[in-house]
Amino acid sequence: MSDERIISVEEARDLVLSLAERLEPEEVSILDALGRVLAEDVKSDIDVSPFDNSAMDGFAVVRDDLLSASDEAPVDLPVVEHIGAGAMWENPLAPGTVVRIMTGAPIPEGTTAVVKVEDTELVSGEGSIGSVIRFTKVPEEGHHIRRRGEEVFAGQVVLAQGEVVGPAAVGLLASTGHSTVSVYRRPRVAILATGSELVEIDEVPTGGMIRNSNSYSLAAQVLAAGAIPVRYPIVVDEYEATKELFTKAAAECDFIATSGGVSVGDFDFVKPVLEELGTMYFCKVNMRPGNPQTLGKIGDVPFFGLPGNPTSTYVGFETFVRPTLKKMMGFSEVVRPITKARLLSEAKKRQGRRYYLRGRIEKVDGEYVVELSGNQSSALLTSAHRGNCFVVLPEGVAPIAAGTLVDCVRLDMEEGVS
Ligand code: AMP
Ligand code: MG
Repeated sequence: MSDERIISVEEARDLVLSLAERLEPEEVSILDALGRVLAEDVKSDIDVSPFDNSAMDGFAVVRDDLLSASDEAPVDLPVVEHIGAGAMWENPLAPGTVVRIMTGAPIPEGTTAVVKVEDTELVSGEGSIGSVIRFTKVPEEGHHIRRRGEEVFAGQVVLAQGEVVGPAAVGLLASTGHSTVSVYRRPRVAILATGSELVEIDEVPTGGMIRNSNSYSLAAQVLAAGAIPVRYPIVVDEYEATKELFTKAAAECDFIATSGGVSVGDFDFVKPVLEELGTMYFCKVNMRPGNPQTLGKIGDVPFFGLPGNPTSTYVGFETFVRPTLKKMMGFSEVVRPITKARLLSEAKKRQGRRYYLRGRIEKVDGEYVVELSGNQSSALLTSAHRGNCFVVLPEGVAPIAAGTLVDCVRLDMEEGVS
C-alpha cells in the first residue's frame, strides 16, 4: 500500500480523516462536558420554568381593574400579599386588589399582568401588605409574566445529539436535572519525538544536541484540540528502539503522532518501522513547510508521522491531525475557517509546492489584510507564535504580488465558524 507519490493537501486530509472513526460515548460531569459533543438527545425532567412567574419586581394585577387608568384618572388599589422568589401564595388574586411580587416569584392565579414598581406610585404605606398603590396606565395583557415551560417542557429534547456543549448548554443541563451527560470520548494521542540529537528540556544541550521542543508543542496542540496528550520518551534513531515504542504506543493510545525521522536521512526509521508494524498510505504531501508528512495505521490506530522541523510539525498537526482528532470527538465541522485577505507585501516562491506561511490577519478600514509574521524558516517557531493564520500560496513558482487576495487559514477561529 506504500505510495511514494506526492499527493495534495486535500487528498492527504481526506485519507487521514477516512482512517479515523468517531470514538464511543462516555458519561461525564456536565462541567467536563464543556467544549465536547453530545452523544445523546438530552430531555428535561421538568417544565422549565416550572410555574408562571414574574419577570419584574412589581405588582400582580387583574388587568380589567386598570382599563380606565390614565394620568388624569389614576386607579388606586390595595396590596393584599407580598411574594418573594421561592415563596408561593395559594390564593387567587381577587379583582380590585394587587399583590406585591418579586422577580421569579410564582404569580397568583387570576393575574393577567405584572406592572413594574417603577411604573407605579405609592399612595399610602410602604408598598407591602396594607399599602395603596396608584396605577396610571393600562398594562398589556400578560405583560412581564414568564410562562411555565418557556425554555422547555418536561420530556422534551432540550439539547440534541451532535450539538457542542458551551457554557449556556451547561446551564440548560443543570436546569433540566442532569449532573452528568453522555459525550464522545476524547482520543488519547501518543506523542513520540524521534531523533538521537534530542535531550529533555530541563537539560542544557551540548555537543550537537538540541532540546526536544516538539513533544511539548505537539502536546499543547493536542490539548488545544480538546484531546489527551500522552508523551512518550525520546525515540533514538535506531530501528529496534523505534519499533518498541511504536508498538507500545499503538497498544495504549487511540492515535499516534510522531515527529522527525520521516525524511530521506540515513537514520530515518519511521517509515520502515511503520511498514513492518502496519500500513503506510503516503509519505509526501505537496506542501511547504513539511513535505514528508506520513500517514499510516498500526492495528486500528491511525498513525501520523510529522516532519521534525518545529514549524513543519506545527503546520502538519494543524492541517492533518487536528481535523482528525475533531472527527474522533464527534465534531461535524473539522476544518478551520478560511478568510480572503489582501497580502501587504510580495511573497516569493522558490518551489512549486503549496505554501503555508505564518501570517497575521487583521481588519483595517473594513478590509482584511495579512502580512507575514516573521522569518519563515521551518526550523523557527517565532513566526508561528506571532501569527494568527496560515497564508496559503497556491502551487506554482510565480511570486504573489502585494495586493493579491490570498486564502488565510484562521487559527484564531474555531472550526465551523464563518
Ligand atoms: P528530521 O525530520 O528528523 O530530519 O528533523 C528535521 C529537523 O528538526 C532537524 O534539524 C532536527 O534536529 C529537528 N528536530 C527533530 N525533532 C525535533 C524535536 N523533537 N524538537 C525540536 N527539533 C527537532
Ligand atoms: Mg531526525
